Amino acid sequence: MLLAVMRSMLRAPRYTFATSPTLHRATLSLLHPLSLTDQHKYRLKHRRHCSHSSSNAPNDDNDANINKENSAWKILNRLPSPECIQPPTAANAQGAMFLPEIEALYRGNQKFRDMIAATTPELLRDLAKQGQRPPFMLLDCSDSRVGEQVIFSAEPGTLFTTGNVANQFHEHDLNSKSVLQYAVSTLLVKHVVVMGHYGCGGVAAATLPQPPPATRAEDPVDNVDNAVQDWILPIRAIYGTSERKEIVEHRERRATLGNRKREIGGKEAGEQLPDLHDPAFRALVEENVKANVQRIARSTVISNHYTHSAPQPVYVHGWVYDIETGEVADLGVTVGPPGVDVPASPFPLLR
Ligand SMILES: [Zn+2]
Repeated sequence: MLLAVMRSMLRAPRYTFATSPTLHRATLSLLHPLSLTDQHKYRLKHRRHCSHSSSNAPNDDNDANINKENSAWKILNRLPSPECIQPPTAANAQGAMFLPEIEALYRGNQKFRDMIAATTPELLRDLAKQGQRPPFMLLDCSDSRVGEQVIFSAEPGTLFTTGNVANQFHEHDLNSKSVLQYAVSTLLVKHVVVMGHYGCGGVAAATLPQPPPATRAEDPVDNVDNAVQDWILPIRAIYGTSERKEIVEHRERRATLGNRKREIGGKEAGEQLPDLHDPAFRALVEENVKANVQRIARSTVISNHYTHSAPQPVYVHGWVYDIETGEVADLGVTVGPPGVDVPASPFPLLR
């Protein structure tokens, strides 16, 4: 149920790029299926690559010479690489050869490589040789609308990223802890950023009534839902205890509605997801970020770093991303080593 609700929310038109015309146009052009002429040119180009690059590979003429010792290697070698795609047949001549979503990623990757070659041709090779030294570790949501490197126009090697549903840091979670440890102790990042986003499905789900565990455990689908429910428990706790005005009002409204519905035998109240612009929803997104900043700042990794006066100060920041406008704001909750001033932020401050 919850997963279905979250999926439907993620797909709802009001959460798309509707208010970002530039990005919308760019995305549409990427996703638009190839014209037949384009497809023909593409196939001709890649057929040439195919015949050139496969000159050392076996073909039908020498199949008879394949011996048992190397036949497996030869069979593998004959599998088409991305550059070596079978010529079109009557069945796929109408454009069914490439799934448009995969074609879009392929074209995007080509664009990226062209851009790197034109602007910073040594960047990738240098990073590969010298290793990464990113100044930032970024913990954000897995949401596809939050493209970390894109929204900051950041070059490869800038952001060490990790993401999950609703940007959670759990000290007991091996992934959370290992990522933070590696970022701080090995990569020597200067900044750990928790970045939430408005319209977060995981945060929205935490405002709904929690399904009863007994019934949840009976269905395999609901067992998956259980995992999500467990993951967002800390956000549910914030929703249930926060003294922030917007959240208190939302909580009280929902409780009143629930009592009324129960009186008339209706369903539990609050089953409607909050609107993207609901002040309580936005406030809960922000409070969730603040709570995770605190959890990271109090983690053993950061505590040890501060206690042992490591040469490199590490700051933990809380930011929020607006999926409608693309703007990043600073929640003004940065934590730094004891006795060290936190750096000023160029991002708009939300307090
Ligand atoms: Zn999210």
